[in-house]
Amino acid sequence: MTNSTVGALGDGRYHTPQRPSPRDVIRAQLRPEMPTPAANVLIRTDRLCKTYPDGAVNALIDVDVEIGRGEFVAITGPSGCGKSTLLNLLGALDTPTSGEIYFAGEPLSQSADIDAFRARRVGYIFQSFHLLPTLTAAENVQLPMFEAGESPTARARKACELLESVGLGHRLHHHPPKLSVGERQRVAIARAISNSPELLLADEPTGNLDTKNAFEVLELLSHLHRDRGMTIVMVTHGPEIADRAQRIVRMLDGRVESTAATV
Ligand code: ADP
Repeated sequence: MTNSTVGALGDGRYHTPQRPSPRDVIRAQLRPEMPTPAANVLIRTDRLCKTYPDGAVNALIDVDVEIGRGEFVAITGPSGCGKSTLLNLLGALDTPTSGEIYFAGEPLSQSADIDAFRARRVGYIFQSFHLLPTLTAAENVQLPMFEAGESPTARARKACELLESVGLGHRLHHHPPKLSVGERQRVAIARAISNSPELLLADEPTGNLDTKNAFEVLELLSHLHRDRGMTIVMVTHGPEIADRAQRIVRMLDGRVESTAATV
């Protein structure tokens, strides 16, 4: 590894880019032909802590996780262990009490435009869909595109293509209350990927769905990961749902308990 490669990681761990860390030197000596894994990390947390003022709940304690580009990771653990808190911090929907999150090597706390980050680089899927009931499916899908500055024609065309891609080309002008819960979640997925985000975050995406619809939504997420190379982080408390991911991060009482690849 060259000094410039180390500097190019730019994730704030190296205060003097001319001096690679001992860990990187050892890595380069052992496997000189391999790129350092850090180069493929999309998002990384460094001793992330979150304390909610109400009742002084320590929801996250020194959490270190790394998500590689193109990975599909499930975060599991019992209710109240901090899964949603971690997901919200990864997507900059909330701020940590201490610690740092590095996205593509850049510290989120230093982001000059966090709204643009949320709108363009991350897609969100929630258990309860969070669709606007007064807008049609196509209009809901277009919402994030306003931030990206797309023209009305481009927005309408893209929303139509996205809804077709999730099997809802025949439901463009339906309002959410007229859609089944499975269809609502598919509209939400189309909306989440409308700006081609680098990271897709899903918080219990099948939590409100029956078995058949849950299967279809998981198939859709697997397709986005497998065929479009999307990086996905999914919170779930269901072991069979977590098994759809490549890697499972288990949490307990605000800490990462273990991390393991699925078979
Ligand atoms: P999980 O997603 O694993 O069920 P959460 O991340 O939602 O867990 O919550 C972790 C802990 O933080 C829980 O004890 C929960 O009660 C608490 N908590 C979550 N949100 C808030 C909040 N806004 N204010 C105070 N405590 C909260």
